[in-house]
Amino acid sequence: MATYIVLLGPPGVGKGTQAKILAKQIGLVHISTGDLFRENIKNQTELGQLSQRYINKGQLVPDDVTIGMLKERISRSDCELGAVMDGFPRTLKQAEAFKIILDSMGDDVSIVPYIKASDKVLIERLSGRWTCRKNGHIFHSVFKPPQEEGICDKDGSELYQRDDDTVETAKKRLKVYVERTSPLIAYYKNQGILVEVQGEQAIEALAKDILAIVKK
Ligand code: AMP
Repeated sequence: MATYIVLLGPPGVGKGTQAKILAKQIGLVHISTGDLFRENIKNQTELGQLSQRYINKGQLVPDDVTIGMLKERISRSDCELGAVMDGFPRTLKQAEAFKIILDSMGDDVSIVPYIKASDKVLIERLSGRWTCRKNGHIFHSVFKPPQEEGICDKDGSELYQRDDDTVETAKKRLKVYVERTSPLIAYYKNQGILVEVQGEQAIEALAKDILAIVKK
């Protein structure tokens, strides 16, 4: 049976960073629907053009589009052992569709680490975030500045600010999170697979907590 881990939590809580660390530690692929959309935007695909309209406004891409894209991704052979899910599911409809997709493969979500943080911290983090163009490495103007401004420490590529990482869009994204995604907390709690973890701590400490939850 494959292992599917869903990292749940508000935008800016560190899901992307943690999902990458965790996936590497336990040898699973990292699936970020946000990254998949951004890749499509970069390649100017039809899906990219459609999704960009929603993403730039801090809105969610429609469920049918997102679920279709995810279904295709999960059917690839590198997901045979499972995956660390980052940013999916984000609505109850997506969670239900995900359950059906996994069910058809004889699988289910194994565990849901739910990373928490206050709105104040989230807005601070989101609006100072810089992302590397080549590999998506993440920096922060206050909490994790790169050695050289505008350049990724890890691969030397340019750092850019995502269109959806401004203060206004950050607030909008948090509102959308409360309305559309936070019902998933109860959804997974009822299934007995949700475990809360404090997100307001250093990256390494949080990674350690998440790994402990997953190993249990
Ligand atoms: P992220 O990189 O996970 O913060 O996602 C960036 C943006 O992509 C979000 O604000 C949404 O507009 C869109 N997006 C990513 N994942 C989903 C999803 N599961 N459902 C709908 N929209 C999504």
